[in-house]
Amino acid sequence: MKSYQLVAADAPLELVESETPTPQGTEVLVKVTACGVCHSDLHFWHGFYDLGDGTKMTLEDRNISLPFTMGHEPVGEVLAYGPDVETDIKIGETRMVFPWTGCGDCARCDEGNEQDCANVAPLGVRRPGGYADHIIVPHPRYLVNIDGVDPHYACTLACAGVTAFSAIKKARAIAADDKLVIIGAGGVGLTGVGIAADYIENDMIVVDIDEEKLAAAREAGADHTINPKRENASEQIAKLTTAGAGTVVDFVGSTETAALGMEVLRRGGTYVLVGLYGGRLNFPTLALPTRDIALRGSYVGNLGEMHELMELVKAGKVDPIPVSARPMSEVTQTLQDLEDGRIIGRVVVVPDGV
Ligand SMILES: [Zn+2]
Ligand SMILES: [Zn+2]
Repeated sequence: MKSYQLVAADAPLELVESETPTPQGTEVLVKVTACGVCHSDLHFWHGFYDLGDGTKMTLEDRNISLPFTMGHEPVGEVLAYGPDVETDIKIGETRMVFPWTGCGDCARCDEGNEQDCANVAPLGVRRPGGYADHIIVPHPRYLVNIDGVDPHYACTLACAGVTAFSAIKKARAIAADDKLVIIGAGGVGLTGVGIAADYIENDMIVVDIDEEKLAAAREAGADHTINPKRENASEQIAKLTTAGAGTVVDFVGSTETAALGMEVLRRGGTYVLVGLYGGRLNFPTLALPTRDIALRGSYVGNLGEMHELMELVKAGKVDPIPVSARPMSEVTQTLQDLEDGRIIGRVVVVPDGV
């Protein structure tokens, strides 16, 4: 098999030929037909996360060693099953691979929250991922039915889609008189706006510093848009709400957006942080009890949410984001283009010969 591996931080991914693995136990061998290129791969590529106070969390800090195959939005054809696999899924079927895999044997995994497993080992993060022509999937339950959905678009649902959906779902408890504030209308944020437009009835205010992204957000269902570079965002949100926002979903996660998100909440409101931009939370601890506010994170989503999102997609209730395909040999260039903001929507990379 061929894979494009991260061999050193910031270096081009290297084409490596190795023996195609044989699935063991409950494993499934999938022939990758496309894999989405996600913004979060840039953290791996550069070798660190920014912790916002001048320090960095490195791959070594996260116990990730190189070389390594990234790619956590794979779609492909089921090729072979391990001896312990019991499933109705037929060999040759095209499925999306849910990448957020836990140990499969703990209380969090049992309750269906594998993303919260103490030993979470996602494909393309801690297990070899989809920048390859083959991938080993630990169990057939991760093979998601995408019948009727464009397979390249389905790639984007594995990370961007389910991440946006899980965050928006956490905002659904919003009160009837509330407005939902979404900060950031990049790839994941815009997906969130498109989901919320149908999934949450409340008016939606979208904040971004890029006019083009705000225009896309209006197109996707935003009722109001605010550009903090041109106007005072907290004043505008105060004007548009009676006593502040009921829920803020922050798809950026910088020091500045977190400050804005916490500031504009009404009493009893909830701030949901999704974005991995990196920064620090800096506010008086008293703000939580005296304003009775909730602060929570949202990391990807669980398999149940993945199925729920796929049903919404199949029912035509999610605006698809634009997707284009490139040969997998251009994966490094694609990461660079993503870094430089040259990609609208999502790019999927396709192995040679597919
Ligand atoms: Zn991702
Ligand atoms: Zn587990």
